[in-house]
Amino acid sequence: MPTPTKIDLSVLRTLHRIHRQLTDLKSRLDRGPKQIRAAEANVQHHEDLLVRTKDEAKTLRKNADQKQLQLKSNEDKVRELRVKLNGASSNREYQALLEQIAADEMAKSVLEDEILEAMERTDGFQKNIAEAEEAVKTARQKFEQVRVEVAEREPHLTADADRLEAELKTAEETLPDEVREKYRRVVRGLGEDALAVVENQYCTGCNQKIPLNMLNQVMLGQPVFCKSCGRLLYLPE
Ligand SMILES: [Zn+2]
Repeated sequence: MPTPTKIDLSVLRTLHRIHRQLTDLKSRLDRGPKQIRAAEANVQHHEDLLVRTKDEAKTLRKNADQKQLQLKSNEDKVRELRVKLNGASSNREYQALLEQIAADEMAKSVLEDEILEAMERTDGFQKNIAEAEEAVKTARQKFEQVRVEVAEREPHLTADADRLEAELKTAEETLPDEVREKYRRVVRGLGEDALAVVENQYCTGCNQKIPLNMLNQVMLGQPVFCKSCGRLLYLPE
């Protein structure tokens, strides 16, 4: 009978720790570009909002200007009518002109109200534009801050990841060849969950009970993969 393969009991604990730390580091490394993209999208959102607000203000001002022109032509017309009124040749013509003037004066008063309202709304939009400009400024500052933070953080995280990768390689080299192959397969499939600690005779990866004979093998440092979830089992310290 060949001697069963034996693993240093602490190496599996070490491997699991390194895998978990690496997963954590990688997710922190991934978070950086995501944070930058989110801050960038936020800047874009506020810039769009500013453009829209300015466009609306422009339309509003154009409408007000048009109404001003209408008002002016209305005033010219009333002036002409008053001249005609002075030279009216009949009472009938005089009455008709008076009615027309009254109608135009009414239209003028409506226009004046509308212009006043449009001007008030334009003033309101000046406030909206100022707020939108402020929001763009804040979003740009935030983006810059995120960019700097991520750039400062990244080299540290990368250095830590490199150090851990080297540590992992060293630890993996201590595994017997026939175990390493199987271990690598499980790592490819499960990542940091490739290993699981046995607690109170249960696999903490899948919560299934480990038979006693298997538990003994784990204690003896033999490679045991959980029958239900495939994780490489090890004991707590
Ligand atoms: Zn399991």
